[in-house]
Amino acid sequence: RIGLAADRIQMESYVVGGFVRDSILGRPCKDIDIVCIGSGIALAEEVAREFDLPDHSVSIFKNFGTAMLKVDDWDLEFVGARKESYQRDSRKPLVMEGTLEDDQNRRDFTINAMAVQLNQANWGKLLDPFNGIADLKSKIIRTPLEPGITFSDDPLRMMRAVRFASQLGFDIFPETFEALQKENERLEIISMERISEELNKIILCQKPSYGFLLLDACGLLARIFPEFVKLKGVDTEEGKGHKDNFYHTLQVLDNISQHTDDLWWRWAAILHDIAKPQTKRFVKGKGWTFHGHEEMGARQTPSIFKRLKLPLNEKMKLVQKLVRLHLRPIALSKEEITHSALRRLLFEAGDELEALMTLCRADITSKNGDKVKRYLR
Ligand code: ATP
Repeated sequence: RIGLAADRIQMESYVVGGFVRDSILGRPCKDIDIVCIGSGIALAEEVAREFDLPDHSVSIFKNFGTAMLKVDDWDLEFVGARKESYQRDSRKPLVMEGTLEDDQNRRDFTINAMAVQLNQANWGKLLDPFNGIADLKSKIIRTPLEPGITFSDDPLRMMRAVRFASQLGFDIFPETFEALQKENERLEIISMERISEELNKIILCQKPSYGFLLLDACGLLARIFPEFVKLKGVDTEEGKGHKDNFYHTLQVLDNISQHTDDLWWRWAAILHDIAKPQTKRFVKGKGWTFHGHEEMGARQTPSIFKRLKLPLNEKMKLVQKLVRLHLRPIALSKEEITHSALRRLLFEAGDELEALMTLCRADITSKNGDKVKRYLR
């Protein structure tokens, strides 16, 4: 019906980007981006008429030349095809009217650059200049044009590359990956809000460690979240090592992700051992200790949230509380534990008891496994 409306005003129109990609992959998608050769606003208004919707149901963004319209639970966005050119110090391009081809050239990845025509005469015709179909089949994230330029033009695309790879379980094409390694310093022109938005999408994936390992391998993680990278490595004294807290944290994050989709419980898993590098001591005859790292981690949480521009609200307090208390159930798992000590934990955990238990369960390692299981029982 969008095609019918477009035919009435004799305008070429195409569905592009995420909707085409997700339809082919059989993933649900409620956002439909429509590109037309002409005014996106005029097409949106005609589509509203097609669906007998009042004129005011079209939201118009004059500055961007875009219009949005909700039809049932579909979110439609209309925009005229455009061409973009970039300046060195901003990810905001200069925008000009363009052809469909120009519009596809400005897309970030081959799998996001496919278009399907909506006009009756060519309804359903796939326009896929960069063979995105082949990349979907071989599960590859690749930029349509030279990757160094694509990432340097808009460095947010680097985070998007890792995000799509994580969400879809795809590999990053070798040349595209090399460009991530070379261009990652360009991320400095991107606002932290945008970076964290992508990071949170990675954290919400089924297996977040996949995205974190990619971010680490291309050097992006060290730029955006150096505290996490500092968890890496094992020191040895008197033949005794400790576990590598970077890989351990990723394991805990994957574990908790099997039990919850709550972003903030997942953030608690990420931060639960964050202060271990600063609290690490070797005690002769005893081995490695990280005394007080939970308290220090809880104290560091606000500054990490502030830098990453995550919300400094109740959600942060929840994360802080989980970091502070995450070892409590384990400490309380001794056979001789008193009832009053147990009551104290229940009181401290309050409404967050379920979150705390889930984090604790995710943190089971071979070393503390028996204790945690006993506590849970
Ligand atoms: P999701 O909805 O899961 O984020 P999506 O592909 O729909 O996936 P959007 O951010 O909504 O992602 O973008 C829609 C389309 O716009 C993309 O498929 C891509 O073609 C294009 N796009 C979005 N952001 C960029 C960017 N930074 N650079 C180039 N193209 C982009």
